[in-house]
Amino acid sequence: MSLILGRYANMPLTVQSHNRNIKEKGRCPVLSENKRRRSSSPDFMGRIRQSARHIETEAKEGARRVQHEAQERVRNMTPQQKNGWRKAGRIIGTLLLVFVVTLTIFSGIFMAYINSTMRGKVEVYLDEFETKVSTELYSQDPDTGEWVMYQTLYLNSENRIWTDLEDIPKYLQEAAIAIEDKRFEKHHGVDWKGTTRAIVYTLFGKNVQGGSTITQQLVKNVTGDNEVTVKRKITEIYRALELEKRYEKDEILEAYLNEVFFGQSCYGVVTASRMYFNKDVSDLTLAECASLMGITNNPSMYDPTLSSWTRENNRERQLTILGAMLEQEKISQEEYDEAKAEDIVFSNGFTISGKYVGSDGTATEPEPEEPSTDDTESPADEEEPTIKGRYSWFTEAMIGDVADALVEKYGITDKVRDNGTTYTAYEQAWDMVHGKGYKIYTTQNPKYQKIAEDVCYDLSNIPYTSSYTNSAGEQVEDQLQIALTIVDPTNGYVVAMIGGAGEKQADRVWNWAVNARQCGSAIKPLSTYAPALDDGTINGASVIDDYPMLLNGDVWPRNDNWRYQGLMPLHLALRQSLNTCAVRTNLAYGVDRSYEFLVNKLGFENLTYTDSQQVGNMALGGFEKGVTTEEMAAGFATFVNEGVYTKPRTFVRVEDANGNVILENEAQSTVAMKNTTAALMNSLLQEASLQGTGYQAQFPGMHIAGKTGSTNSNKDRYFAGYTPYYSCAVWAGYEHNQRIVASGNPCAVIFQKVMKAIHEDLPDKDFFSCAGLTSVAVCADSGMLASENCALDVRGSRVYTALVAADNAPTSVCTMHTAPSYTVNMADSDGNVTTVTGSVLNYQRELIAGHDEIVVEDAFMMLGGWNGFFGDEEDEDFNMPNGDHDDTMDDSVPDMSGFLG
Ligand SMILES: [Zn+2]
Repeated sequence: MSLILGRYANMPLTVQSHNRNIKEKGRCPVLSENKRRRSSSPDFMGRIRQSARHIETEAKEGARRVQHEAQERVRNMTPQQKNGWRKAGRIIGTLLLVFVVTLTIFSGIFMAYINSTMRGKVEVYLDEFETKVSTELYSQDPDTGEWVMYQTLYLNSENRIWTDLEDIPKYLQEAAIAIEDKRFEKHHGVDWKGTTRAIVYTLFGKNVQGGSTITQQLVKNVTGDNEVTVKRKITEIYRALELEKRYEKDEILEAYLNEVFFGQSCYGVVTASRMYFNKDVSDLTLAECASLMGITNNPSMYDPTLSSWTRENNRERQLTILGAMLEQEKISQEEYDEAKAEDIVFSNGFTISGKYVGSDGTATEPEPEEPSTDDTESPADEEEPTIKGRYSWFTEAMIGDVADALVEKYGITDKVRDNGTTYTAYEQAWDMVHGKGYKIYTTQNPKYQKIAEDVCYDLSNIPYTSSYTNSAGEQVEDQLQIALTIVDPTNGYVVAMIGGAGEKQADRVWNWAVNARQCGSAIKPLSTYAPALDDGTINGASVIDDYPMLLNGDVWPRNDNWRYQGLMPLHLALRQSLNTCAVRTNLAYGVDRSYEFLVNKLGFENLTYTDSQQVGNMALGGFEKGVTTEEMAAGFATFVNEGVYTKPRTFVRVEDANGNVILENEAQSTVAMKNTTAALMNSLLQEASLQGTGYQAQFPGMHIAGKTGSTNSNKDRYFAGYTPYYSCAVWAGYEHNQRIVASGNPCAVIFQKVMKAIHEDLPDKDFFSCAGLTSVAVCADSGMLASENCALDVRGSRVYTALVAADNAPTSVCTMHTAPSYTVNMADSDGNVTTVTGSVLNYQRELIAGHDEIVVEDAFMMLGGWNGFFGDEEDEDFNMPNGDHDDTMDDSVPDMSGFLG
């Protein structure tokens, strides 16, 4: 416990000021906040006291002078005159004294008020709002390798990226000063002229805006204190005067421009320039600067992208600002004219004059879906735009990964909030990701993410629905869901991710791509064939019997119509995705070892102890929880990457606001299998995809390998496949687990659409070549080196060329084929019977007793083991074994390496 607390206590939860230029004027920056508060503002109080004393002295002096002058005048007057003036002088003097005393009392009260309520309590320190800087997300430009910021994260709808004043165009600074506070450079925080005017107007019952300096507005924005009371106003004035003593004008202007609200969650000029002009703030023109500053007065009225009404308002405001700049000689007449004439383009594709030119400036047709053009509509009536998810599926998964890493790194633990609810460690970390001004370097390829979104957001690419009965007993339509993850095999980068079908509608919704689902047979290459090839349990030429076994009294695995093909070479077992062969191979390799392989070598995290004990789970992919598309894509990527597995990752580095690296997510790679195993799998899975169940994944001009999957009840479909460039796993299923009725495999179709677009510009190439492989002529029934007899099989030659690892190749010649001296009656598909002479198989299958319904298609070839067929022409069913088996084992059963009978 103390260890956890200790780690927690060391958390660098506070982030240093993002803007290192802001320092207190003439003050030691290392002074603690408390010290600064306690020692603050003697100057100000001094000045007030001094002023009061000064006024008092002046007034007393004035009163004395008036009295004295009156006495002088009186001296030179007639007695009558003297008497009258003496009276008048006394009255005036008395009045002046009353005034002075009152003023003294009031300034005393004012000072006491400021002393007791404000001094040391309400001063504003600009570095206090440092935590409100947005986190920046970067992705690497695939062409230039440059890191490009693509999105910001922020808490409480406050999207801000800090920038230094030197990076803000002079025009923008001057536009702000011209329209908000033209005496900014001269005043000391408060524009008394403007304030007096505002107070007078207020006294006469007029509600006037203005009078607030940039400094006061900054104070208001930073403190969020904007109620309309005298006390608030006095506090604001006090704070503004104090602020001006601590900071330079440039610092105040910089803070203001970074702080001010521009609508659409944008705070500060950086996010606002991106929002309204898709531009870096430093690239804004004069016309754009004026338009942008025009928004701040009232974003719901002047945001040019809301409607044509607000755009026209913005134009008016822009011209007002340009006019003010001209009048105050910030710009020349030529600059003014040029800016006025510039038809600037907003990010929604409209120009300030109302033309639609599209976001790239080339569209000529008017955009039909312009936001409201109803001029009579008041901004208050406008509905909030529908909030789509701010985050892509990728970004959301990435934030989750960063949050997990933060929890682990800092040992964050759950907290209980004041209201008694739990603030989980994960939520705390999630908030840190958003609110700490981090820079996160992600692995996505924005181009590929867009391609995947274009395909999966379009439901015509996933044209399947199914209805289910909800808890209220109503029939509800479900859209078939899709999950997809694409991984770069060389570094484990997750380059694209989709977590559902159709456009993502909200943030923090269920992501099917990172949640465990069933993958069915798609697991076979990873759980079974690769590890069995790797340790020599089988080799590239192995033959596996497509014949079931008895499991707890049941015949299992069951094929359709009880039909089994019998002896199958590995490549066909995989191509046809035969469950019997996968189960036999997995049993031969070891079910628990298969589990270990997936968990330890290929990074699967959702497998359970139960999975490790069940051959059906490990060989056929019917897991207790399942696997994620991210895991599957990374697993298959191992075959592309010469047998080296790299853990998939969504980010590579996280820096804090000061540029210190706080998370480094380096590549974690392990050699999962020999390169010869990976090369063999590439060959086998190319065949499986090209000629087998995955044919729908193919697109021309690229080498493609992969494996389909589906669960027993057809509730999940899968395709995991890859090219020499990228690995991609796709899952499909219904939220309420209905059966999928689809033509072909919807996942292979999605794979094809996405991967085809991604590979458009990539040249075709073969998978890596491997010196350790060799081609050998082998027998398709025994898996041994081919003999003459193999070629003389009654069915035709059984010799084919298999790719095998040189160190795991068959070494002896086929002993299964007999001499070519047998005569067999063969029936073709039309039922025509011909008599053929050749070799048959000297192999006795161990049959399951009492299950004569099982049909093994190569049974008629067996020399031993039945008494029915050869010569028994009466038997209609002559390709099948009949009931009574001769269970006598043939003594000459050969030693067949890699043969799984
Ligand atoms: Zn043979």
